[in-house]
Amino acid sequence: MEFQSVIIIRYSEIFLKKKNRGYFERIFKNNIESAIKDIPHTFTTTAGRYYVENFDEENTEKIVSRLKKVFGIHTMSVGKRVESDMNKIFHTAKSLCPESGSFKVETHRADKKFPLNSVEISREIGGRLLSSNKKLSVDVHNPDFYVYIDVREDGTTLVFSEFFDGAKGMPVGTAGKGLLMLSGGIDSPVAGYMMAKRGMHVHCLHFHSYPYTNMQAKEKVVELAKVLSSYTCGTRLYSVSVTHIQEQIHEKCADELMITLLRRFMFRIAEILARRHSMQCLITGESLGQVASQTIEGMTSSNSVIKKLPVLRPLVGFDKNEIIEKSKAMEAYDISIQPFEDCCTVFLPKYPAIRPKLDYIEQEEAKLDVYGLIEEALSTLEKIEL
Ligand code: ATP
Ligand code: MG
Repeated sequence: MEFQSVIIIRYSEIFLKKKNRGYFERIFKNNIESAIKDIPHTFTTTAGRYYVENFDEENTEKIVSRLKKVFGIHTMSVGKRVESDMNKIFHTAKSLCPESGSFKVETHRADKKFPLNSVEISREIGGRLLSSNKKLSVDVHNPDFYVYIDVREDGTTLVFSEFFDGAKGMPVGTAGKGLLMLSGGIDSPVAGYMMAKRGMHVHCLHFHSYPYTNMQAKEKVVELAKVLSSYTCGTRLYSVSVTHIQEQIHEKCADELMITLLRRFMFRIAEILARRHSMQCLITGESLGQVASQTIEGMTSSNSVIKKLPVLRPLVGFDKNEIIEKSKAMEAYDISIQPFEDCCTVFLPKYPAIRPKLDYIEQEEAKLDVYGLIEEALSTLEKIEL
């Protein structure tokens, strides 16, 4: 039979209705292409659709699994493209049918010159399928499977049996750049995923306390950044040591403010790095009330050291189990739960301050050479290859 495998990609029209349609489409196309650039194929586009074709059949699953991570794709179908000829359409439809069960044929006809209209095409193909196999039946209300026929204007017809969900969202790169503060935990990778889904290009900054935290902790963060990178068309990972900052806080300031003060250093350092690289916001995995430092007072304390950039906290209103679900869905969970130390567990006070007042925080912080410590930390900045 003369047919060619095709992967049909549909995007949500919503973001294309704006004036900058061309801009969105160009980025979206680039993202799709870069997700599968190492797999030979051809890529074509017509209004509202993209087609991946001329690939080795064996690579179908690999291509689909990559495309499932491209934000902006609404649905996809894997099917066949044949010449618009009823015999060929029938044989292709038959090849997609299971051995038994009920079905419904749905036809869309873009080519108005095709001799049969969509109802007639459905009826004829359905009839021929029925007489070709006695174990098939028609059920137009609740079929076991569908046969979709799409007669295109170029003399070819697409035949497929399934629509499956893409990652949805907006193409990465259409909504600016942000710097994600990436720990080794469950929350921050999910926060990065959520911003990428809204079209933001996300890069990562990790703070470590080597030698208090070990190399495995770093490896874990690298693995998490790689997972994120598979959704973001390439994520950069930076790391900075906060070891000396923690030692100084431990030595000079009230014990209960360890985390609060450390966070303020992290935010300041993150803002400097973000602005150096023209990133437009900071992103954290904080969720209101989840732990002692994630109170509104804690967030006020962290935000007050930021000069220009907004801090986005996409998980602020989520329950932990909702975050865990998202973490599993993005395939980060198994990495996140590996038990390695994070810098925040070093010098962890027995009773961290839950609602620290800003005056008190600033008074304690004044015991430190804040800018000297930041400069020193920035001198440990590393870009880690993924
Ligand atoms: P996560 O699961 O992301 O570690 P968490 O619930 O453990 O979050 P905290 O430890 O209070 O929460 O951290 C809050 C946020 O601060 C994190 O989501 C992350 O954005 C940032 N953060 C914490 N530790 C680090 C770190 N070592 N490097 C970079 N960012 C960090
Ligand atoms: Mg954590």
